[in-house]
Amino acid sequence: MTTRIIMTTKIAYEGGESFDAPTLLQHSKELKFADRMRDFTQLLDTSFANYQRMYMRLVDSPADREVIVMDALTGERRRMLMFGSNNYLGLANHPKVIAAVRKAAEEHGVGLSGPPLLNGYTTLHRQLEERLSALKHSEETLIFSTGYSANLGLMTSLTTARDRVLFDDYHHASLRDGLRMAKCGHKSFAHNDLDQLRALMTGGEPDGDTFVCVEGVYSMDGDLAPLPEIVPLCRQHGAVLILDDAHGTGVMGANGTGTAEHFGLEHDIDITMGTFSKAFGVVGGFVSSSRSIVSYMRVLARSYMFSASLPPIVVAAVLAGLDIIEKESWLRDQLRNNVKRTAAGFRSLGFDVNPEAAIIALRVPEGMNIRQAALQFHEAGVFVNCVEFPAVPLDQQRFRISLMSTHTDADIDRLLECTADVWAKCAPAPSGGR
Ligand code: PMP
Repeated sequence: MTTRIIMTTKIAYEGGESFDAPTLLQHSKELKFADRMRDFTQLLDTSFANYQRMYMRLVDSPADREVIVMDALTGERRRMLMFGSNNYLGLANHPKVIAAVRKAAEEHGVGLSGPPLLNGYTTLHRQLEERLSALKHSEETLIFSTGYSANLGLMTSLTTARDRVLFDDYHHASLRDGLRMAKCGHKSFAHNDLDQLRALMTGGEPDGDTFVCVEGVYSMDGDLAPLPEIVPLCRQHGAVLILDDAHGTGVMGANGTGTAEHFGLEHDIDITMGTFSKAFGVVGGFVSSSRSIVSYMRVLARSYMFSASLPPIVVAAVLAGLDIIEKESWLRDQLRNNVKRTAAGFRSLGFDVNPEAAIIALRVPEGMNIRQAALQFHEAGVFVNCVEFPAVPLDQQRFRISLMSTHTDADIDRLLECTADVWAKCAPAPSGGR
């Protein structure tokens, strides 16, 4: 069976060719359930042996600038420099956060075993809602157990069949999945293309309302939504603006309140969504907005109502993280210096990068085998994220570098040196512009 799939889909992973995953999945869908499961597993175990050296890597240490990774093939434990984590401010392993978690475990136990509406709403949860409302200059906040469920909750509870959602083509999968479940119409516009957004706003107005969804910091390339243009456009057309600031919260703006603050628009966003899985270093999501919108969601967002609350230990970690975000702005300064240093280094290697946040994308040139390059990074002990087809179109494959305030100059120099080596070995010569 495995051979049949491999032959049909011309997979030659070990040989370095990229595999045709959509064909593979399409093909395997024709099989009976048990055959499909068995074939696919065999395929992963055999042809994709190196898969586990790029994805699902076994990390056996705190998420820090340096991590210990168990190599899936050799079983060896290796130190790797971590440039693939969204732990932007180092809070995932911060002593003050760990102390707060210990204290919360002593005082509140480890979990609540229920949703907020029944038994999962504690004084810590309320405290966090109030602190986040203040951070986001909004009246009220609702805490979800993941950022993913926050986006599902937003789309499914707020929109009706008469409404439409216009969203940036680079928006995260959680919003798209929310739209699949919602009854409203929806259409995407090309990434950051204001002309397309404007055209959509003026043409074919719905019976109901228009919602516009953008990310503050886009997670793939680290670029920003042009909020100074989008905010007035939404006002002009009476559209509701929903800002997903998963990657901006804690990082952007002088006070770390997010991308809106970066643009001086912190009082001008209708609804802000964020996560605790990036700068806060834990897990969870939230929506901040007016009292009426949040109250409505509290009883109508099914991903909130029917899902267990975040454990108090996680809430305590976010509260401690907020203290640090609010009081220790030097961490953001350090992060910005690291981004500047890294970007300058990449530019001197010929890469065309101009990061606006803490993410740098290195586009892989045509003809370069991204999987071979990913293995080179892995073997050199540098942990970066590989974004490959079919997650993105073939001409948009890239490595995503995430920086942290805790990276040292030596870490950054090592990243640059390693990237130069990987490109020298894997990029088609002459490399020219990158
Ligand atoms: N929105 C954006 C922009 C994201 O990048 C992510 C996570 N990658 C999410 C939402 C979902 O958040 P979580 O991982 O906390 O569920």
